[in-house]
Amino acid sequence: LFRLLPQLSALDTYRSRLAHRSASVEIVQNFLRRDNKPFMVNGSLPYSRLEKEIRFNNVSFSYPKLSETEKDSFDESKPILTEINLSIPQGSTLAVVGTSGAGKSTLADLLCRLYDPDRGTITLDGEDLRNFDLSALRSAIAVVSQDVFLFNKTIRYNLTYASNYTTETEIWEGVKQAYAEEFITQLPEQLDTRIGDRGIRLSGGQRQRLAIARALLQKPDILILDEATSALDSLSEQQVQQAFNRLSCTRFIIAHRLSTIQNADQIAVLKEGKIVECGTHSQLILKQGYYSHFYQEQTDTNQ
Ligand code: ADP
Ligand code: MG
Repeated sequence: LFRLLPQLSALDTYRSRLAHRSASVEIVQNFLRRDNKPFMVNGSLPYSRLEKEIRFNNVSFSYPKLSETEKDSFDESKPILTEINLSIPQGSTLAVVGTSGAGKSTLADLLCRLYDPDRGTITLDGEDLRNFDLSALRSAIAVVSQDVFLFNKTIRYNLTYASNYTTETEIWEGVKQAYAEEFITQLPEQLDTRIGDRGIRLSGGQRQRLAIARALLQKPDILILDEATSALDSLSEQQVQQAFNRLSCTRFIIAHRLSTIQNADQIAVLKEGKIVECGTHSQLILKQGYYSHFYQEQTDTNQ
């Protein structure tokens, strides 16, 4: 959900960019219409918790096709994901790796239903994602991504709106685990400090820490981490990782540093929207394919 919200505010940027290129109001209107996603259908099935597995069955996806008028100013839609098959057993960890633009974040977006696949299905315990009540589904999923969305409200609100009931002690526990304690205690009103336009401005690292704390407090059934700890140093990253590991949930992790996913139950390597390798760390190292190549590269540069 949080990945969609910044896109809405980014619309303004696109709009002015488009207005520069062409005076056509129609283009702008089409753009807005496209992002309003009128085609997103809400299901009626209540979602409680995963019992068996998340499955991607032959999932293919490209971003919604552009209208005739827009074709001049944008590339035509191209396949972003092609025939993705995955099974993620309840309680296990799937890590997705791949170069930038490979389609990793898009895969995560499909899982929280920011978009629906063009072909194939994503199922939870055999039930198509589209059949579930959207808000119930989304409140069961916590997402920490690169572009963190925060409301222009207090820190407390931003930390707890996704959780059912949270005590003061629990909030501080989450804050501590997310390495956000130090900066929050230095703020004038601590948890009640207002952030955003009429409040204080936070750094990228601080925003990310808040999103981590929020996800920990939410105690989600499904956890999606999309390069979630990229702004942390590797020691804090390890500690945050351990806090996430203590949650009992099913994990979908997009790795920033490969060192953080070596214990994942399976690692899927994505290349140009296709899964080219899948296995455990040691299986993939033995295979001496893409993964072992990436891994070698990262180990070399870190030394
Ligand atoms: P990754 O997370 O692996 O870096 P993404 O899933 O973000 O990759 O992007 C995969 C491809 O989809 C890229 O080519 C990117 O340019 C394109 N893409 C991402 N978001 C959008 C969007 N909202 N509309 C159109 N194309 C997009
Ligand atoms: Mg990404």
